[in-house]
Amino acid sequence: MTKRILALPGDGIGPEITRQACRVLEACRDEGLDIDIEEAPVGGAEIDRSGVPLAPETLEKAKSADAILLGAVGGPKWDTMPDISKRPEKGLLALRKELNLFGNLRPALLYPQLVEASSLKPEVVSGLDIMIVRELTGGIYFGQPRGRETREDGTRYGYNTYIYDEHEIRRIGRVAFEMAQKRGKKLCSVDKANVLEVTILWRDIMNELAPEYPDVELSHMYVDNAAMQLVRAPKQFDVIVTGNMFGDILSDAAAMLTGSIGMLPSASLNEHGQGMFEPCHGSAPDIAGQGLANPLATILSVAMMLRYSLNEADMAARIEQAVGAVLDQNLRTADIAYTGTRQVTTEEMGDAVLTAF
Ligand code: ATP
Ligand code: MG
Repeated sequence: MTKRILALPGDGIGPEITRQACRVLEACRDEGLDIDIEEAPVGGAEIDRSGVPLAPETLEKAKSADAILLGAVGGPKWDTMPDISKRPEKGLLALRKELNLFGNLRPALLYPQLVEASSLKPEVVSGLDIMIVRELTGGIYFGQPRGRETREDGTRYGYNTYIYDEHEIRRIGRVAFEMAQKRGKKLCSVDKANVLEVTILWRDIMNELAPEYPDVELSHMYVDNAAMQLVRAPKQFDVIVTGNMFGDILSDAAAMLTGSIGMLPSASLNEHGQGMFEPCHGSAPDIAGQGLANPLATILSVAMMLRYSLNEADMAARIEQAVGAVLDQNLRTADIAYTGTRQVTTEEMGDAVLTAF
């Protein structure tokens, strides 16, 4: 049956990088992958068109698609909008929530050709290959009650609720254990069980799941130590599983170990394997429209789409190999260029990946 893909280019560099990623999808289609690609505006582009960041008809298309490819949303033009509920970013949050995309996969992989791009010593990061599995639809970012108020004596206070129920923990736990089974068979669960009750439950549930995955070695780490270890000796990690907020912070730290924001893809999946795939970086308005943007994070997001939503692991591997090949050819967009490499534009990078595919 034909798989349906919805491409949402968005704002800033979103359209340029999504174009290159769609060319790769089209190449897969030419090789027999049975897909149908449709495009729709989202974020600021949609605000300009209809006044809201996510149109109801686009949400419906997203719900019925097998996978969504997202560029990036937002930019200075919309940052000053008084109504926060209509900002470009709200369109993404709505998509995650409506599609129940609870499982966020964020690989931090350092290509051997880019070791020099990292800010850490080669012996610390060379060979780095971590997968962070972050819970994306619960935890303190969504817990109720929440608010900002003022006491009778005039003191202002704010509060949020860090809450997870066992079902939410179990389902993200399963994603992480299965991921570890397919990789290096090591899973580190990150919590703050010495201080926060909710994460004692988190730790209990992970321990309860462990016997179902006897080939996976489970360990636990407090988040403060995990942050330190990520910088000190990141190669000790294979798969990390953690909640929404800790995952947000740790995945950004892990991303910077690779030194190249333009290289990092991500996937957000629901229970049916439906997913949204997008680069980790933002819409980079400072370089939009100049051919400077690195399209590889978005192209690698297509590889994640093939692997995790479309069940096409072989084709995913071919894309990843093609990316490795263009790096071997010393081709670099500006963000990853250094002496001795050849700087190319966004589109030339897309051309090179297609040639190597
Ligand atoms: P957001 O709030 O959407 O995360 P941001 O301003 O925090 O946006 P980015 O939009 O990711 O972050 O941009 C951060 C910096 O990285 C900018 O200088 C931008 O030009 C650069 N950058 C981001 N993505 C790319 C890319 N694909 N290729 C080259 N440079 C990039
Ligand atoms: Mg940012």
